[in-house]
Amino acid sequence: MPFPLSPFPSVCAVPELTFLGTGTSNGVPMIGCPCEVCHSADPRDRRSRTSAVVRDGGRMILIDTATELRLQAIAAGLDRVDAVLMTHAHADHTGGFDDLRRFNELANAHLPVYANAVTAESLRERFAYAFVDQFPFYGGKPDLTLHVVDGPFALFGREVVPVPVLHGRLVVTGYRFGDLAYVTDAKAIPPASLDLLRNLDILVLNALRERPHPTHLSLDEAVAIVQELRPRAAYLVHLSHELSHAVAQALLPPGIHIAYDGLTVRTLMG
Ligand SMILES: [Zn+2]
Ligand SMILES: [Zn+2]
Ligand SMILES: [Zn+2]
Repeated sequence: MPFPLSPFPSVCAVPELTFLGTGTSNGVPMIGCPCEVCHSADPRDRRSRTSAVVRDGGRMILIDTATELRLQAIAAGLDRVDAVLMTHAHADHTGGFDDLRRFNELANAHLPVYANAVTAESLRERFAYAFVDQFPFYGGKPDLTLHVVDGPFALFGREVVPVPVLHGRLVVTGYRFGDLAYVTDAKAIPPASLDLLRNLDILVLNALRERPHPTHLSLDEAVAIVQELRPRAAYLVHLSHELSHAVAQALLPPGIHIAYDGLTVRTLMG
């Protein structure tokens, strides 16, 4: 069930995250799939492509521009975005990129976008029109300033720590905001990055299905990482249609939750 964001910017500095989408690259239901999960009556089994928004001190920080960005923003009541953090440039995480232009129009300003060097290069290539100023007004196209991140950076008065993880051979960027961290599309987390994810209140991590996959964590692999890092709570995203919400949740130990589209979580400490 969606938890709509308040229309009023929060003045509280405690990071709060809303899952805009929690599904794998095909989305759930998948086109033309007769399976039970794709035809489930449980609204938590309708997973749009994985993306989230962090609310921090009244600022809205979007993580990825998933294929359904427009519909996700409408469902969550998201009417402003102050910055965009990209994890990587795969199509399911960038398919809604053009919809950023509406947030330019609402704010009447350029939007800063943060990405690692490889992701930034892919974005410039695929969305070249978004990085040149050719419209005299906001809203005709995305108007963006691209910032390449290769270490911790300041964003609206808070330190954001990029956390490199491996998605097969591709380096994907996770992000840590104080006691909350968001990691998607990982298959492996190098030791130095594991160290960046210790002492968390909330960890968001990907888990595709029960069977192993070459570029995504399985449910068991994700649970093993969570049990090593010991956050207070963990939320799993990027699930395929092979697991319903109810079945996946029943396989998990206490403190590890399957996220669903529209769920909002808050850290205890900030
Ligand atoms: Zn993905
Ligand atoms: Zn299916
Ligand atoms: Zn990916």
